[in-house]
Amino acid sequence: MRFDILTIFPEALRDLLSTGILGQAQASGVIDVRLHDLRSFTDDPHRIVDDRPYGGGAGMLMKVEPFVTGIESIKASGDGKRRTVLLSPQGRLFRQADAADWARLDGLILLCGRYEGVDERIIEFVDEEISIGDYVLAGGEVAAAVVVEATARMMPGVVGKFDSIESDSFYDKPRLGAPQYTRPPEFRGLRVPEVLLSGDHAKIEAFREAQAWKKTTRNRPELLGLSLEETTKHG
Ligand code: SAM
Repeated sequence: MRFDILTIFPEALRDLLSTGILGQAQASGVIDVRLHDLRSFTDDPHRIVDDRPYGGGAGMLMKVEPFVTGIESIKASGDGKRRTVLLSPQGRLFRQADAADWARLDGLILLCGRYEGVDERIIEFVDEEISIGDYVLAGGEVAAAVVVEATARMMPGVVGKFDSIESDSFYDKPRLGAPQYTRPPEFRGLRVPEVLLSGDHAKIEAFREAQAWKKTTRNRPELLGLSLEETTKHG
């Protein structure tokens, strides 16, 4: 799968996206990450990508033309099923289910804003606007890295053991993963739950299932559609 990222800071993403499993996935050809300098899609000698907002207001806004020229150039360089996504705090929230869906695409084109955001007309040139959370970042680069990493992890061959993904938080239900432990069996008086040392796989499975729901109820009650009061009854 190909990831094309349009940004004014391609160098900020280079190391991050070539480290660990993403680096291995690139080396083995499972994913192909292409970083595009948005300024190379400008047609003025100063390579300007921003301007003052109409109607006034603080800060600068990113122009629509370089993004559209960039999208068109990327689309002309490959085919297949692709999705073009604007990273924006005003978008729909990105979820694990999106990562799973997008992992089946041939390509994802990700647009990173900066400054006060992007000229709203960009909406006509993307499939959707996606936010990684209800907070405002300085730019879309970190958000693009989140989308690439979460999506790539869902592709066969990226994470060594696919079963480890199946036990992850959010994998097939709105639920957190079970708490996990490793050696030593006791640390400062804190013992690993005995059942995990028992070797009884059926009991271990049942224990993990119960713990996963308990942790979800405690930390993310809204995933269960429960109010906090209802949660304490379950906790
Ligand atoms: N003025 C905008 C607003 O109030 O919604 C915020 C612009 S933000 C400072 C600049 C850029 O960072 C955005 O265009 C977007 O690409 C990126 N960004 C910021 N927060 C984000 C988030 N939660 N999810 C995805 N992208 C985000």
